[in-house]
Amino acid sequence: MRFRRLKLTGFKSFVEPADLRIEPGLTGVVGPNGCGKSNLLEALRWVMGEGSPKSLRGGGMEDVIFAGTAQRPPRDFAEVSLLVESSADGESEVTRRIERGAGSAYRIDGRDVRQKDVALLFADAATGAHSPALVSQNRIGALISAKPAERRAMLEEAAGIAGLHVRRKDAEQK
Ligand code: ATP
Ligand code: MG
Repeated sequence: MRFRRLKLTGFKSFVEPADLRIEPGLTGVVGPNGCGKSNLLEALRWVMGEGSPKSLRGGGMEDVIFAGTAQRPPRDFAEVSLLVESSADGESEVTRRIERGAGSAYRIDGRDVRQKDVALLFADAATGAHSPALVSQNRIGALISAKPAERRAMLEEAAGIAGLHVRRKDAEQK
């Protein structure tokens, strides 16, 4: 699976719509401290289903919505879209939106879907919000000190079998 394009509106410091093309090969994000480099990585994790506000450096889920500055009023929603390309499914656009007081909603190619559908899409491609390929500034220590079960989950995700577990849990519930 390849990430092709990332669009953000009202997400953290990205208050105005931003549309970033992700070219093949290595992408570097450079800029001064506080310009939003980590916020971009968090937008990627968020659109792939990240459910923990703490791992997005917030206290609650709505903290990803632009909170306003002295010059600008806060926004009432945040939206991130990720265009991905995979050999199995071609191109798909995954969108997550959160509104104040209304929680998160997901779409794939404009269709309303469950969070689980988004999780499956990425789990089958061995990526996702908890992919070991995404290492945030504070996570090196977490990887080193992970409990065996957590480390196993990371390895399974890397090995591309996390999707099987999501399906098994789903089947067990039925
Ligand atoms: P560093 O080089 O220090 O790692 P960085 O480029 O990774 O910096 P980020 O941590 O991505 O920077 O961005 C931090 C900025 O984002 C801060 O200025 C912070 O105020 C702003 N920010 C975070 N959340 C919000 C929000 N909800 N609303 C408005 N601004 C936000
Ligand atoms: Mg940073």
